[in-house]
Amino acid sequence: MKIVALFPEATNEANSNQLLDDSHALDLKAYLEKYDEDIEFIVVNNDQDIDQHIEDMDVVISAPFLPAYMDAKRINKASKLKLAITAGVGSDHVDLEAASANDITVVEVTGCNTISVAEHTVMDILILLRNYEEGHRQSRDGEWNLSAVGNNAYELQGKQVGIFGYGQIGELVAQRLQPFNVEVKHYRRSSQEDTPYSIYTDFDDLVATSDVLVILSPLTPETDDLFNYDVLSRMKKGSYVVNTARGKIVNKDDIVKLLEDGHIQGYGGDVWYPQPAPDDHPWRTMPLNAMTIHYSGMTLESQARIEQGVKKLLHNFINNEAFGDKDVIVASGDIRNNSYKSK
Ligand code: NAD
Repeated sequence: MKIVALFPEATNEANSNQLLDDSHALDLKAYLEKYDEDIEFIVVNNDQDIDQHIEDMDVVISAPFLPAYMDAKRINKASKLKLAITAGVGSDHVDLEAASANDITVVEVTGCNTISVAEHTVMDILILLRNYEEGHRQSRDGEWNLSAVGNNAYELQGKQVGIFGYGQIGELVAQRLQPFNVEVKHYRRSSQEDTPYSIYTDFDDLVATSDVLVILSPLTPETDDLFNYDVLSRMKKGSYVVNTARGKIVNKDDIVKLLEDGHIQGYGGDVWYPQPAPDDHPWRTMPLNAMTIHYSGMTLESQARIEQGVKKLLHNFINNEAFGDKDVIVASGDIRNNSYKSK
């Protein structure tokens, strides 16, 4: 059996805390040695190198932070591929229709980094509203221009935070926002119920009334490019957008236009398309952005959960045992996960 994993290049091999990199590789090499099966385990550190193994790999593993983009073209060439493991949450880097058609199972480590992403999302909201980036820039650059920072800084208290795609992470964000005395509303496809932390509203109202719109849905054909000029221009003037879900849900150029003309006050998050983002990606240089590279779900606590989760998924696969339902995105020719099923 040939297992190919794509993990980011290690920066400091001496740092034993690094789990999700190509030197430690989630400890999978040592882990797989305990099985009797003849297993070849290969680690690559960039997406292009997947092509060298495409025709004879049985399993592919990658994390959403640095995905192996398993598009239909690759899947059609991968005649031996049986399993695609997402070392994290969010399996949109695999063409799920093509995986279903080719009887490839797609699984992920559900819930492994939800707390980390929720904390990061709350941090992004505060960084944007308080104009932290400008205050920090001035402190580094030897400036003391108070009006340039204070005149664009706001309290979070009293604002409406709207969460689009209110699942595990969305609920944790809403819960964590309670002490800030904000009004939290949400829209999700799966239910129209209020929750203990948030009031349900429809999509148009969420867009039109939120001071801060938080995007936390999966990337699917339905959400791909959903937040384009038409939708974003219906937001309140001076509002903010935080996207810790997937970069492609927001139109790359339209958000820049709306930031440049001041309609949207700020945009933050950690997700891009493609990843790694090219040097000239406009989100690197657009005004009022609190972007980071994709690492919100990559705390050391999350990495430890990812390691345990991937080991368990491999254990089940090698021993021909069923995967836990919650981790299954595609199986037996069907998209099983409700978030990824088309309506
Ligand atoms: P989840 O499955 O628990 O929740 C997803 C929610 O989105 C559900 O409530 C679902 O009803 C809703 N949804 C799906 N399609 C929708 C649509 N078209 N319109 C409105 N709502 C829709 O998932 P989760 O664990 O909360 O994660 C959400 C997403 O966050 C993941 O799919 C992933 O893409 C992203 N994520 C990012 C990171 C990161 O590091 N930035 C880490 C984990 C997950």
